[in-house]
Amino acid sequence: MDIDNMVQNSALVRAREGGGNKGRSWRWKEMLRFPHISECRELAKTIERDYYDLCVYQPIGKKLFHLYCLTRPELSCFSFFFYNFLCVPQANQCVPSLANMHLFYPFRFLHEYLSQEPFTQYQFSMHFDRFLQWKHLERRPITKYNFREYRLLGKGGFGEVWASQVRATGMMYACKKLEKTHVKKWQGEHMALNEKELLEEVDSRFVVNLAYAYETKHSLCMVLTMMSGGDLRFHIHNMGKPGLTMDRVYFYAAEVCCGLIHLHQKSIVYRDLKPENILLDDKGHIRISDLGLAVKLEDGDLVQGRVGTLYYMAPEVISKEKYNMSPDWWGLGCLIYEMIAGKSPFRDKSERPKSSEMEKRIISKTVEYNEKFSTDAVDICNGLLNRNPKHRLGCQGLGGKEVKTHPFFRQINFRMLEGGLVEPSFKPDVILIASFSCWQS
Ligand code: ADP
Ligand code: MG
Ligand code: MG
Repeated sequence: MDIDNMVQNSALVRAREGGGNKGRSWRWKEMLRFPHISECRELAKTIERDYYDLCVYQPIGKKLFHLYCLTRPELSCFSFFFYNFLCVPQANQCVPSLANMHLFYPFRFLHEYLSQEPFTQYQFSMHFDRFLQWKHLERRPITKYNFREYRLLGKGGFGEVWASQVRATGMMYACKKLEKTHVKKWQGEHMALNEKELLEEVDSRFVVNLAYAYETKHSLCMVLTMMSGGDLRFHIHNMGKPGLTMDRVYFYAAEVCCGLIHLHQKSIVYRDLKPENILLDDKGHIRISDLGLAVKLEDGDLVQGRVGTLYYMAPEVISKEKYNMSPDWWGLGCLIYEMIAGKSPFRDKSERPKSSEMEKRIISKTVEYNEKFSTDAVDICNGLLNRNPKHRLGCQGLGGKEVKTHPFFRQINFRMLEGGLVEPSFKPDVILIASFSCWQS
């Protein structure tokens, strides 16, 4: 590792830990100064006055409406319920069974009440003014000047990914920059836009989230959840003996499974499941990343197209048949196999077979399991690696439920997992990972 990288690394580590200002720029107060309420008139005219949108779904709106209720004695008895039960808790704070609480009677009844006179009066209150000020602040255009850049995290097909910090708040992100000239040269405009649009739609703790998007003269930038724990390929192959311990296999497989189910619920096929696209954060949770090849299907549509990485491609993709979500379940099969065996199911570690040979193996070779595979592990892999998508595990029209309930996942409490309440057993050494990625890039 050269000296530049070392300096960049320690700056990054310091920034992540936060100093007195928690990594905020010395001008952060100025950046977050509220606009005068007179500047918000236009916004007040145009903002849609929908009770659920303004007071239930948006965290800032929820908080301010709650504070408003507290100012009215006759409403303050509701506000306890309101804050603790009625609102949709943020995705990262709740157990999923609570997420739709506001739809249930009697909560629905309370909401109906609050959405009438109290909501009308709220819109004349100073709390609502404050809400408009927040919204105004939030809607200011994002440019590169909002960020401070640290170091290169990785390189992709169309450009680089940099560790990037929001100056106003000190929050760290990964900024994926697609170089415009490169995108144009390879006619990737459609792909770039597709990736951004799909990322905007997803909201899951198991998929990398898009926080901001902006452009500069030379690049299109997507500001994503920072994942500083390295990718699964690295963890499977570069940390001693290839493969992972079973507790990690169950955990990562279950989190990927939840991520896939979320994408599928949004009618998105991911199509690029492989260890290097599964990233770890500093606590040891994983997220699916790189939605460059994903595609959104219209109602009940099928799609055709040979995309993905050959080693992990499903038979129906290779033989150019039409498919919907099935390739992703095949991909999960390959991933579970590789995490256990330390090699992919159709290729030995150092082997580089020709593509025709690889296709032949995927279409007809019997998968072999070594002694590391329990009966449940063999069974789930065989189910997911079923060559007929109609018979494959995950493709039975149950939205992947049959995968979650497979005995392989006996140890996993999916509700807790989806609520973010399960501690990973393995915490990556982010400094070690950072120095490795310096060598690689
Ligand atoms: P491409 O679509 O061009 O393959 P990727 O999205 O896979 O680009 O990103 C390229 C590399 O950048 C990845 O292999 C990884 O090392 C790094 N990277 C991507 N996203 C993140 C992230 N959210 N956090 C940390 N590193 C990332
Ligand atoms: Mg990639
Ligand atoms: Mg990509």
